[in-house]
Amino acid sequence: MKFTYLTLFPQIMRCYFEDSILKRAIQKGLLQTEFVDFREFSKDSHKKVDRPKAGGGAGMLLTPQPIADAIKSVREKESWVIFTTPAGKRFNQKDAKRLALKKNIIFVSGRYEGFDERVVERYADEVFSIGDFVLTGGELASLVMSDAIARNIRGVLGNEESLVEESFEEGLLEAPAFTKPIEFEGSKIPSEFLKGNHAKITALKNSMALLRTRYYRP
Ligand code: SAM
Repeated sequence: MKFTYLTLFPQIMRCYFEDSILKRAIQKGLLQTEFVDFREFSKDSHKKVDRPKAGGGAGMLLTPQPIADAIKSVREKESWVIFTTPAGKRFNQKDAKRLALKKNIIFVSGRYEGFDERVVERYADEVFSIGDFVLTGGELASLVMSDAIARNIRGVLGNEESLVEESFEEGLLEAPAFTKPIEFEGSKIPSEFLKGNHAKITALKNSMALLRTRYYRP
């Protein structure tokens, strides 16, 4: 899988792949990354990429040409182009699993007041928001989505079983989990977890997952 990031700030994205699981995925050849500064594609003599909004309104908008040309320069036959915007579809775990089967995803990170709508309409295969809040730029949104996608690529996680038991599988949040010490600041691990009866542990986990889901996501 290849992730290509179109951004005005490649340097704030690169470091995310320099440690831990995603670094190992790159070393194992499961993941490739490319960072493209779309300012390089500006035809403006000062490499400007933003202009005031047509019709007025606060802030500056990204002009469509540098982004369109940057996409054209990296797009391959099987590329899938994702634009980031708070006004997009809310990204979820099902999207992460589905997109893990793609060959090449191009993430486009906005800045300022976002994109000229025409470049989104013409070039986006999908448009995602990572939640109902507004970030200063799309870089974190692109990294959030690519992290969630990457861990669903076969071989990226050390233990693939982690993917089966976690939140959003079966429509539930994951049950609370515990580790040693058995007693921490006066609070003990539920005794059922220590008795080794796997059927009872599973039943307890299921009911805790249900309760937690009802509490946090009624
Ligand atoms: N004016 C835009 C609006 O109200 O929808 C917000 C623009 S925001 C300040 C700048 C860029 O950050 C956006 O173009 C987008 O790429 C990114 N961004 C901000 N919040 C986001 C979110 N919740 N999900 C995905 N991308 C986001």
